[in-house]
Amino acid sequence: MRGVYLPGHSDVDIREVPDPQPGPGQVLLAMKASTICGSDIRAIYREHLQGDPAEMYQDVVAGHEPAGEVVAVGPDPVRLKVGDRVCVYHISGCGQCDDCVRGYQISCSSPRRAAYGWQRDGGHADLILAEERDCVVLPDFVTFMDGACVACGFGTAYEGLLRAGVSGRDSLAVVGLGPVGLAAGLLGGKLGAVPRVGVDPSPERRALALELGAVDTAYAPDEANGALELLGAGAHVAIDCSGSEPGRATAISLLRARGRMVLVGEGNGMTVPEVSPTLIHPSIQIIGSWVTSLEHMRELVERLPVWDLHPEVVVTDRFGIDDADAAYQLAAEGRAGKVALVP
Ligand SMILES: [Zn+2]
Ligand SMILES: [Zn+2]
Repeated sequence: MRGVYLPGHSDVDIREVPDPQPGPGQVLLAMKASTICGSDIRAIYREHLQGDPAEMYQDVVAGHEPAGEVVAVGPDPVRLKVGDRVCVYHISGCGQCDDCVRGYQISCSSPRRAAYGWQRDGGHADLILAEERDCVVLPDFVTFMDGACVACGFGTAYEGLLRAGVSGRDSLAVVGLGPVGLAAGLLGGKLGAVPRVGVDPSPERRALALELGAVDTAYAPDEANGALELLGAGAHVAIDCSGSEPGRATAISLLRARGRMVLVGEGNGMTVPEVSPTLIHPSIQIIGSWVTSLEHMRELVERLPVWDLHPEVVVTDRFGIDDADAAYQLAAEGRAGKVALVP
């Protein structure tokens, strides 16, 4: 099979490797859709980040947002059979620690923890070997591309909104309108948030967010105050998907008193020059949120038909595996929506 490797320095290497065979507890998937995430760009494609072991790339097939069809099962499968359509929760944990039992394999600290596309082979390939327990079965309504979008981006946005308890009682400000920001806006709307405003420096991304109905209005960062016309006293919830220091400052500035700030975008810092007027006196709640749980991913996949929502609407560009180089270059430009590989 073909597999895409990311040696760093913005290079892409396509290698021919042997087809994997499923062992006990495993399934083999024919890849149908495998999307590129901002984390792939930030921590692997440009340079291999060192530090957090969870983010250290071990020269495996890249891609942590896989969806595909089961084409072979290991001995004694519990649940899955050939022909099932699934997406993959992208971290395989030990399965037994407190975090894994709660479905948050992302937080598993066992040495056996391995993320697909980081420490074990991922989805930018013709085939992927997955643990059966990491697979989420897709209802008929949910396309493979939808599933790939849920595997990281939509799952991450959903978790952030759930942690802030977003409902129809809330208005929502989304800072950073890349794929995760689009997901936050779309899912926030389904949870009832109204109105929803977006902020992003890219005119292309603002236009896409408006076209998809992810937000009601969108502003450039230097015009973000204009959102207060719609939000009145400010947003009940602001979610930062920009991962930038100025983006986080903008998100806080758009909150009303007792508002909730969710940090989802990764990297960089957050500086609050005056804590009393900025956070203490308005009683701002700050919530960090990393990926999601297997339970919430299953729940999200089940809600999509009910909500009549196809996450794949955020996918703007599709490439074959042989064109992975062009796909990564485009994703790294940060102007497109989601970029996907389709074997
Ligand atoms: Zn991701
Ligand atoms: Zn664990």
